[in-house]
Amino acid sequence: MRYAILGDIHSNLEAFQAVLEDIKQKGGVDGFWCVGDIVGYGPDPRACLELVKEHQFTAVAGNHDWAVAAKVDISDFNGDAAEAATWTAGLLSAVEKDYLSRLPLRLVAGDFTLVHGSPRQPIWEYLLSAGVARENMELFETPYCLIGHSHIPLYFELVDGEKCYLKEFPAGTPLKLGENPLIINPGAVGQPRDGDTRASYLIYDQEKAEVSHNRAAYDFTVTQGKMGECGLPEHLAARLGYGM
Ligand code: ZN
Repeated sequence: MRYAILGDIHSNLEAFQAVLEDIKQKGGVDGFWCVGDIVGYGPDPRACLELVKEHQFTAVAGNHDWAVAAKVDISDFNGDAAEAATWTAGLLSAVEKDYLSRLPLRLVAGDFTLVHGSPRQPIWEYLLSAGVARENMELFETPYCLIGHSHIPLYFELVDGEKCYLKEFPAGTPLKLGENPLIINPGAVGQPRDGDTRASYLIYDQEKAEVSHNRAAYDFTVTQGKMGECGLPEHLAARLGYGM
């Protein structure tokens, strides 16, 4: 079985479609997993939610999903994020917001635990250093854990049960799954922040016991144009062009 691992789609339909097309061209998958933040920031929350439902994603909640569903206080967000969350909440139907509000904070899929931020704080904690990742290594029962939230493709590996390392995850070089516990971030579909504008995602191949990192280019100027028309903050549109 093969599974696509996506996160931080952020209402970016063009990026999401490019990823789905890329997956198709790579032979397709048996299931889709999402580490949260389907909505927020971007101009197409409804169409992205439709695609998530159509592909029967197994998904956890991100901070943006729950903010739009009024389960997290929007005042905890910075100005642009709050503005986009308020705009999104105004656009979505009660049924769509109900779907977002029912997304769990944590779930298990095969050998992986899925959370948005971290096992310790699924909604808010950013895992960007080996020290903080180490503190989370004992907080999941499966061999591996998948996270999102920081929008940076990377992984943390616990070696000899004690030392934790942060490792870059270059596209094209598969990561072999072994005995060492791992916390893996697929990077963002809809708002990459590692200096690469292309949508980022993973494919997990169960038989081969490996995870590969993939990038899919899309025309971000189309998304930027829609964001302008919707009156979303200019900075949010501009950053799609820098991948930051
Ligand atoms: Zn996010």
